[in-house]
Amino acid sequence: MSTRASQRVASLGTTVFGEMSRMAGELGAVNLGQGFPEFSGPDVVKTAAKQAIDDNKNQYAPPQGIPRLRQAIADTYQQAYGLEADVEQEITVTTGATEALLASMLGLLDPGDEVVVFEPFYDAYPAQISFAGGKTVPVRLNTPDWSFDPDELAGAFSERTRAILITNPHNPTGKVFTEEELDLIADLCQTHDVVAITDEVYDRLVYDGAVHIPIATRPGMRNRTITINSTGKTFSMTGWKIGYAIAAPELTAAIRGAHQFITFATSTPFQEGMATGMEAALESDYYDQLAARYTSLRNIMKQGLEGAGLPILPAEGSFFLLADAAGRGFEDDVSFCMHLLREIGVAAIPPSAFYADPSTAPILARFCFAKEPATLEEANRRLGALRASR
Ligand code: PMP
Ligand code: GLN
Repeated sequence: MSTRASQRVASLGTTVFGEMSRMAGELGAVNLGQGFPEFSGPDVVKTAAKQAIDDNKNQYAPPQGIPRLRQAIADTYQQAYGLEADVEQEITVTTGATEALLASMLGLLDPGDEVVVFEPFYDAYPAQISFAGGKTVPVRLNTPDWSFDPDELAGAFSERTRAILITNPHNPTGKVFTEEELDLIADLCQTHDVVAITDEVYDRLVYDGAVHIPIATRPGMRNRTITINSTGKTFSMTGWKIGYAIAAPELTAAIRGAHQFITFATSTPFQEGMATGMEAALESDYYDQLAARYTSLRNIMKQGLEGAGLPILPAEGSFFLLADAAGRGFEDDVSFCMHLLREIGVAAIPPSAFYADPSTAPILARFCFAKEPATLEEANRRLGALRASR
């Protein structure tokens, strides 16, 4: 008997997020690495989930998700973006955005199919594309403004391109794609008959007057887009793993075909809780308050990084800021982040983990500011030592 892992898995490292959180815990560092809120989500959501458990809503949900949650998702995208979706045929509840992404890849790709992905990219993407037998084709977002070269993007499309994966707002850069950029992508999708898969988990976290535009709302894109989102970020409950995919019926059938044999269905009481949360948010200024809270946390983090002499790269979305550590005498971002962790007592993520070839990554560090003000103040106090050590 051989107990070795498959080649598929053996070629993958350990995700940087788990590693960083583990080391931060061991070393007592302030953990601004892995992206998750320190604060808890709304009480109304928690109460509704507890009630659902007590009401014995503890058996399998329908594979596509409970009707009330699908309705709340449809109403939410309608209210926010004017995007209409049919609750029966166009919405699927998944176990986090992560499962929606995997189900999309497994549902769409045949071996050898290519997926164009903006680099740096969320680390799960290439793994999931390879699980489905596909090939990741990276297109660079370039520092300092995270723009891309339209010719490089056009050149990345080939006969084998099945999909383009967009993270908007983008992790780890915080980029919010402009209407012009989205239309350029949309044109390429239509010319090459390609599906857009858009990961919009940070759609409510935009700043400085930036506007999030779902690519599904751009001309010609409604029926060739899979819009993926998650309640983890919007309701500050990343551990619940309630995500979803919105797509035209044929694409939804492909997603559901995979989803039924990945998880079959997603946790029933947590769906009930999120349905209540989304319904309540439709009737209140919940999302505005969330954005206001994040704006003030972002300001605290900005002050700390600037105070430490770390220039911040432009970012209009997400709950991350990237700081420029070039010129500080570190060989790469990993050694800079290890220095931060061990000597300064702050954990950050080295974004080279988001590059196909990490040696080509700029020397940056990603800081998550989804933390209590006191936690950020403490991180800032510690980061102050960086200035002294310059
Ligand atoms: N996509 C992006 C861009 C993310 O940053 C994350 C997690 N932070 C996810 C997907 C995963 O979402 P979920 O926890 O809902 O699976
Ligand atoms: N998406 C989160 C981040 O970018 C982490 C999620 C995870 O740990 N898988 O930090």
